[in-house]
Amino acid sequence: MTTKVITIDTQILKKNEIAASENRELFKKHKVLAINLLSSPGSGKTALLVHTCSVLKEKINVSVTVGDLQTEADALRIARAGVPVVQINTGTACHLDAHMVQQSLKSLPLEQTDILFIENVGNLVCPATFDVGEHLKVVLLSVAEGEEKPLKYPPIFQHADCVCINKTDLLPHVDFNLNQCRDNLQRICPHAPVFEFSCKTGEGLSTWYNWLLNKWAAAFGEAC
Ligand code: MG
Ligand code: ZN
Repeated sequence: MTTKVITIDTQILKKNEIAASENRELFKKHKVLAINLLSSPGSGKTALLVHTCSVLKEKINVSVTVGDLQTEADALRIARAGVPVVQINTGTACHLDAHMVQQSLKSLPLEQTDILFIENVGNLVCPATFDVGEHLKVVLLSVAEGEEKPLKYPPIFQHADCVCINKTDLLPHVDFNLNQCRDNLQRICPHAPVFEFSCKTGEGLSTWYNWLLNKWAAAFGEAC
């Protein structure tokens, strides 16, 4: 019984890996830097993308794929920032897989995209297992959560290329221990830079924008 389950899982992941490679080829062909944005529900992924797209679109071309179980609420919010966006409704699936992302790419102007943000379904568990062909994984958490998140969900943090801590404007009102969180991140993902900001006030966001622009420039662009 156990063996059977493992076999099915392996096949699903193998199929996913093929689609992820195809996505990677497509990104390479169109010189698109693909960023997989991961967090729990309510950490502020969509708010972060609304701000990021509004600012970055003045310098480079950005597109967005958003995954949620239901509704196109997030896509509508991001569309107001004036960038191309596609909503994927996963139904019951608690993560995006490479095939779903591949479907969304058909509706996005890849030729005119420098950075593609993939807002994953809010979940810190299985999105860690599903490669969607992205170049970078960004993990977001907010001070309204617990500083022990990196210790509780190590796989997703271990693979992070950077970690963002959002809602810092709430620090005076919550019990979140920022120093402890920094220590936990240092323990789990010492390689990942940590950005602390508030999407509400905008404080701290410029470091994040610069990191993105530098990553894009290093991959495909000219320095800007
Ligand atoms: Mg969202
Ligand atoms: Zn899942």
